[in-house]
Amino acid sequence: MSDQTKFLLSEHDLPKAWYNIQADLPFALPPVLHPGTKQPVTPDDLAPLFPMALIEQEVSKERYIEIPEPVREIYKLWRPTPLYRARRLEQALQTPAKIFYKYEGVSPAGSHKPNTAVAQAFYNKEAGTKRITTETGAGQWGSALAMACRMFGIELKVYMVRVSYDQKPYRRALMQTWGAHVVPSPSPDTNAGRAILARDPNHPGSLGIAISEAVEDAVTNPIPTKYALGSVLNHVLLHQTVIGLEAKRQFELAGVYPDVLIGAIGGGSNFAGFTFPFIGDKLKGNAPNLRVIAVEPAAAPSLTRGVYAYDYGDTSMMTPLLKMYTLGHNFVPAPIHAGGLRYHGMASSVCELYRHGIIEARAVQQLATFEAGVLFARTEGIVPAPEAAHAIRVAIDEAIRCREEGISRVIAFNLCGHGHFDMAAYERYLAGELQDYELPQAEIDRALAELPQVESA
Ligand SMILES: *Cc1c(COP(=O)(O)O)cnc(C)c1O
Repeated sequence: MSDQTKFLLSEHDLPKAWYNIQADLPFALPPVLHPGTKQPVTPDDLAPLFPMALIEQEVSKERYIEIPEPVREIYKLWRPTPLYRARRLEQALQTPAKIFYKYEGVSPAGSHKPNTAVAQAFYNKEAGTKRITTETGAGQWGSALAMACRMFGIELKVYMVRVSYDQKPYRRALMQTWGAHVVPSPSPDTNAGRAILARDPNHPGSLGIAISEAVEDAVTNPIPTKYALGSVLNHVLLHQTVIGLEAKRQFELAGVYPDVLIGAIGGGSNFAGFTFPFIGDKLKGNAPNLRVIAVEPAAAPSLTRGVYAYDYGDTSMMTPLLKMYTLGHNFVPAPIHAGGLRYHGMASSVCELYRHGIIEARAVQQLATFEAGVLFARTEGIVPAPEAAHAIRVAIDEAIRCREEGISRVIAFNLCGHGHFDMAAYERYLAGELQDYELPQAEIDRALAELPQVESA
C-alpha cells in the first residue's frame, strides 16, 4: 500500500452482477406518473419506448441483477478501470489525507456512459430492436451509444442540439465514425422539428426539443425503433454500479475503506454508480461514518436550491413526471462549460437519499472548478472533463480541511471522464474569459411557477 499508485483488477474480477440499491433503501421511491393522467405509469405505457427487460429493471427490488455475458465481454475492452492514489495531488496540497480516484475516462468514448450504453444496446438487441433514437447535447451520451449500437449491429439516429452540432464538430465526427446518423435538432425529419423550423429556421435547439424529436421518431417509425436515455432513470444508475463494485474490491487491495466519497451530478448516474455500493454498506449499518457528497454547478443547483416536487423530465412536457429536486422544466441554465451538469432535475434515488440525510450536496462555481481541473492536470497528468472537475474541486476542499484539522481521511472521487473534447473550454479558462454565475432566485421562482399540478400523492 505505502508506495502503490494504481490498484488494478484482472478481467476475472469484473463484477458478474450490478447492485440495485432499491433492495436496501429504507423507503420506497415515489411512483413515476403518466404526464396525461397523472397516475402511476404502467409497464405498457413505457413499452413503446424501452424493451421490457429495462422496464423491469426500473422497478426491480432484486439486490443483484446479473450482467449478461455479452455485456461483460464488451466491458472487458476497458474494464475493470483503474483506481489511482493521487499522490502528486496530495503532495501539492500538503495534506495528510489519502486521495483516491476511480478513472472512467479509459473507456473508448472517454467517460462512464458506455457502461449503460452497452447494456441498453444489448437488451434492445435481445428484444428485436433494429434501430434506436436518442438526443445528445455536448455529445458524450450520443458517442457512447453510437459505439454500443455499432457493436450490436443496431442502427442509431442521434438528434444533436443544433448549437452543439455546430460548435462541437469532433464529438459529432466521433459518433459518425462509429456509424451513427447524426442530425442537428430541430430537424426537418419530425413533426416537432418541422413546427419549430417553420417559425425559426435558425433555431439553436435545446435538449427538450431533441428529446421530443427522438421520442416521436421512436414511436412512429415503421422499423422497430426504441428510445434510449443516458442518465436519470433507475436502470441507467443500476448499470453504472459496476464502477463502485470494482472500487470496493480495489479499496480492499489498498487496505483502506473510504471516509468521504464524492461524485459530480448531472442526472446522477456516475455519482450513483460510484457510491451506491458503498451506500449499501451504510444502509446496512456497516459504514456508519462514511460521508457521501454529490457536487453540482452553482449555475444548475437542483439539490441545493431546487424544490422537491413532481416535474417533467424534459422541456417539452412529453416525458413522465418524476418526483425530484427540480429547478423547473423551463429552467434555462447559464452557458457553463459542463454540458453534462446543466439538467434541471435529478435521479429519484439520489433525491431520496439526500432528502433523508444519507448523502450531502454541495454547489461549486465555474472558476473554482476549472482551477481544480488545471491543478489536477498539472499534478496527476490527466485533463479532467469539466463535469469531473466539480468532484475534484470538493475532493481538494476536503483534503485542505484535513490539513487544517491535522486529520488524515481517505477521500475518493469518481473521475467520470477525460476532457480531451473540452479543450475549447480550457482554452477560454486559461485566457481568463470564463466567469462565475450566481443564479438569481427570481429565475428559479419563475421556472418553479410552471411546475405541473399534481394531487399530493
Ligand atoms: C453525462 C456526463 C455527466 C453527467 O451525467 P450523470 O448522469 O450525472 O453522470 C457527468 N460527467 C460526464 C463525463 C458525462 O459524460
